[in-house]
Amino acid sequence: MAYLTLKDINKIYPNGFHAVHDFNLEIEKGEFIVFVGPSGCGKSTTLRMIAGLEDISKGDFLINGKRANEMGPRERQIAMVFQSYALYPQMSVYDNLAYGLTLQGVDEDVIEEKVKKTAKILGLTDYLDRLPRALSGGQRQRVAVGRAIIRKVGIFLMDEPLSNLDAKQRVTMRSEITQIHRETGATTIYVTHDQTEAMTMADRIVVMKDGYVQQIGTPYDLYFNPVNVFVAGFIGEPPMNFVRTTLRDGCVRIFGSEFSLAPLNRPILSNYEGRELVFGFRPESIVLGQQPNAISLTATVELTEMLGDNTNVYITAGEEKAILKVEPHDTPEMDSEFTFSIPYESIYLFDAETEKVIK
Ligand code: ATP
Repeated sequence: MAYLTLKDINKIYPNGFHAVHDFNLEIEKGEFIVFVGPSGCGKSTTLRMIAGLEDISKGDFLINGKRANEMGPRERQIAMVFQSYALYPQMSVYDNLAYGLTLQGVDEDVIEEKVKKTAKILGLTDYLDRLPRALSGGQRQRVAVGRAIIRKVGIFLMDEPLSNLDAKQRVTMRSEITQIHRETGATTIYVTHDQTEAMTMADRIVVMKDGYVQQIGTPYDLYFNPVNVFVAGFIGEPPMNFVRTTLRDGCVRIFGSEFSLAPLNRPILSNYEGRELVFGFRPESIVLGQQPNAISLTATVELTEMLGDNTNVYITAGEEKAILKVEPHDTPEMDSEFTFSIPYESIYLFDAETEKVIK
């Protein structure tokens, strides 16, 4: 039996807005689940329904097989970290960490032991006497996380906890949260709009758009087997390149050249004769020059961005544009002609009408 079950969960706000449609998910004990999607897709609403901060309009939420729709937040044994740290400004770091336990009437010496242990895990030992205003953003975020993990709870919910931090702090906190999850083993649901956070932290990712779940899977699944154009474009950085093209006599026109799709060996493609397809390939899947078992193309280099570990190459051929990822020492000259190949095994095809993947 799953630890948490969300069955046909819907949220209709009092103004009639249908923010979440038929959300289904089973979460195992100890899993790290990430809800990801663009702003307004319903991820926070779903998290707040799990937390008990928002009513569930339709559907069932179960904890350990027991219906929890009507349980209050406390009864659900949930700890939550929000985007705003929500620390008590007049209390020291020690008191902020201890507060929840004090309310529960835990013994002072047990509290002290737990505060010290939590502070050690989070690198806050030297800051226990400070007030929140005398801390950096990253340190405040650690206190907020500490306040949540200090209580023994079954479920740990986080809503964009890193969004107030700078890029470097985000990377550090990302690995710290993963480490804390490993140590505490708490079932965690983490909301973000950042696909990199989702990919690096999650056991499984739930991709959402416009209130609908698009796909649920491991980072590996979502990257290699996206079910539709949205997921394919959302997961991966820079995003997958897409070219709309029509299938004629088993061939498509990409970047001004015609290619047979026969080597893909996908019999279903015969149903698409004369219809529009979306042809997709990832920036990092290309190979330099002309290659066997691949589609070879030539385009003009519009711009290059040297990032250190790789270079993004922006190319154009007529109306079509794409981004390619190459090794820094392979960076082409601006305005030059660039020849590259897309291995057949790296090609994705989608139905242009439904935007679903064609396998
Ligand atoms: P963000 O990353 O911007 O927080 P999100 O994916 O978490 O986005 P939600 O906050 O869950 O999105 O909001 C989902 C949709 O529901 C949005 O269109 C939002 O405007 C709407 N919404 C949120 N709260 C309410 C409310 N109280 N009444 C009506 N509509 C709401």
